[in-house]
Amino acid sequence: MKIGLIGAGPSNLFLAWLLRNEADFHIIEEDRRLGLPLHCTGLVSERMAIALGMSKRVFDNYYDKLTVTTDPYSTGVLLRFTNSRVIMLNRPGLEEYLYGKASLKMEHMGVRATDVNHKGVVKGSGGFEDSFDLVVIGEGARNVLSRRVLGTRLTTVSGIQVDGYSPYLRNLVDDDHHIIVLFNEKYSGRFFTWIVPRGGGEFRIGVVDDTSVVGLRFRRIISQFKVTPRRIFGGKIVLGSLNVNHGYKSVVAVGDSTGVTKALTGGGIITGMLTSLILARVIHESNTGVSERYSSMLNDTLGKLAKVYSTLSSMLYNNIELVERALKEINERHVEVNVPDYDNHMDALIRLLITNPKIGLKVIKYTPLINMGKFNLRSIISALL
Ligand SMILES: Cc1cc2nc3c(=O)[nH]c(=O)nc-3n(C[C@H](O)[C@H](O)[C@H](O)COP(=O)(O)OP(=O)(O)OC[C@H]3O[C@@H](n4cnc5c(N)ncnc54)[C@H](O)[C@@H]3O)c2cc1C
Repeated sequence: MKIGLIGAGPSNLFLAWLLRNEADFHIIEEDRRLGLPLHCTGLVSERMAIALGMSKRVFDNYYDKLTVTTDPYSTGVLLRFTNSRVIMLNRPGLEEYLYGKASLKMEHMGVRATDVNHKGVVKGSGGFEDSFDLVVIGEGARNVLSRRVLGTRLTTVSGIQVDGYSPYLRNLVDDDHHIIVLFNEKYSGRFFTWIVPRGGGEFRIGVVDDTSVVGLRFRRIISQFKVTPRRIFGGKIVLGSLNVNHGYKSVVAVGDSTGVTKALTGGGIITGMLTSLILARVIHESNTGVSERYSSMLNDTLGKLAKVYSTLSSMLYNNIELVERALKEINERHVEVNVPDYDNHMDALIRLLITNPKIGLKVIKYTPLINMGKFNLRSIISALL
């Protein structure tokens, strides 16, 4: 089977690794180098990274604690990861590692795919044109080809972050394995802000918000935390999509391009690789009806979970002010909770409420104030079922 991969991100490279002996892969990547431009924080659960075959060589740091709070001076809620730590993946180290494992028949680096049709014909910059049995759109959050060919409309927000030194933050966070997540309207009105130590006094600090305001928010944060930037990077973070057609005829999408992510944090590396795992399984079983079978398998599995997270994240991020108020109440006491795994947010929340029922009572009083946005209870329940 001749497969054209649009984009050399982790999702497509993982697919080329999984099916290295079963298909001829032709990669079409607009950049001349892998993993560029940088955009991602790289935080994933260690357990999932190892389960998907990632080498520790691409782990830059690990974290066994994460505090959710309103500002770096308050205690907030401390999550301790007991079974699986959070790790920071090196990017582009991840892409280089996956590339080393994959088997590619042709590499078209520096070629931007500009058009794809349902018959599997791809056109690109510099007069590129080729036809494939299957085309896999792995264009990340860009949503140009996935929208045109599959009708996908991604919901996104923008994230900017900096790697830089801050003696000021160093005084507040003196543990290189402790992440701080801030819910505070002053920093972000729509999402959260993160402070992740990288070791040696360096931090990765980022913020997510609507595109029109994120730059301003970011500059304010850099100045407040007195950061000397070494590099600044970012991009679009996918929170979901209403589309359920992840494939049509000779074209399918993987990774961010499907809208299937862990929307509560915007994390998409692991979910992206899992979409490729599902696609690999479908192709491995049979070369016929791939797009229909993949689309329905993705919808019935990861897609369902992603829909729930997407619905919850929309509700959460319509209510940052309430989250901030609830956290401020918790700040009065020191709250700690053991969480087996970073990837399971619902489990973390349930454990927090079970071990600290008083918090549940404090938070519940805000329920009538919750802005449900375009969602109602029915849409949440139907997403869950
Ligand atoms: C600020 C920020 C922080 C993030 N933090 C995390 C995190 O901590 N943990 C986590 O799991 N995820 C995080 N993410 C999300 C994560 O980066 C993505 O989910 C992941 O990279 C998606 O992988 P992918 O393979 O789908 O696409 P990408 O990694 O986006 O790769 C897409 C590739 O396609 C290429 N391309 C695009 N269009 C074309 C075209 N037309 N022709 C040819 N090539 C093309 C691009 O150059 C790129 O190489 C973050 C994202 C942002 C923006």
